[in-house]
Amino acid sequence: MKLIFASNNKNKIKEIKNQLPDSIEILSLEDIGCMVDIPETATTIEGNALIKADYIKRHYGFNCFADDSGLEVEALAGAPGVYSARYAGEEKNDQANNDKLLRELADQPNRKANFKTVIALHYNGEQHLFTGIIEGEILQKEQGTGGFGYDPLFQAEGMTKSFAELTLEEKNAVSHRGKAVAQLVAFLKHKED
Ligand code: IMP
Repeated sequence: MKLIFASNNKNKIKEIKNQLPDSIEILSLEDIGCMVDIPETATTIEGNALIKADYIKRHYGFNCFADDSGLEVEALAGAPGVYSARYAGEEKNDQANNDKLLRELADQPNRKANFKTVIALHYNGEQHLFTGIIEGEILQKEQGTGGFGYDPLFQAEGMTKSFAELTLEEKNAVSHRGKAVAQLVAFLKHKED
């Protein structure tokens, strides 16, 4: 089985390949010669995952999937959400995003937040959505140097470390992306049986 992953993010591609049997071949956008930066114009995380998967389906006709993720903060009515990467501006600067988040939450007692990933899959004419969510809170200051994005400010429920203080394996075992990928993998393995 050949499946296009509408991404060129090497870490994500590796993570997913690691969890799939060799009988399922994952191809990146680069592998299929798609050099377009697919515009992510939706106002929801689900919408952006669908835009990317739909684009590949329409232009290449292959079975394919795409993901989109974001941080949703309760006291900010779900922001930055679908705009997580460009929260502090179009240059997509992680440090500026984290600084802005801390400013927006200054003196805010409600620190509840969650990370969410949606994977949109086109498979043999059917469309499926897989959603992974991890609940947690926004810390008062950055902790740890690992990971990326909002990791230094996010602590998952029941944990005493931020995401930036976890190993990649520890993070993947509980993360929003890990959970969504696990659902995709279970679906594909079942189809292979
Ligand atoms: P993407 O859709 O996976 O590219 O994620 C969009 C944005 O959400 C990223 O640029 C980050 O700002 C934020 N984000 C998503 N997942 C994570 C994560 O696991 N840790 C920290 N930030 C994340």
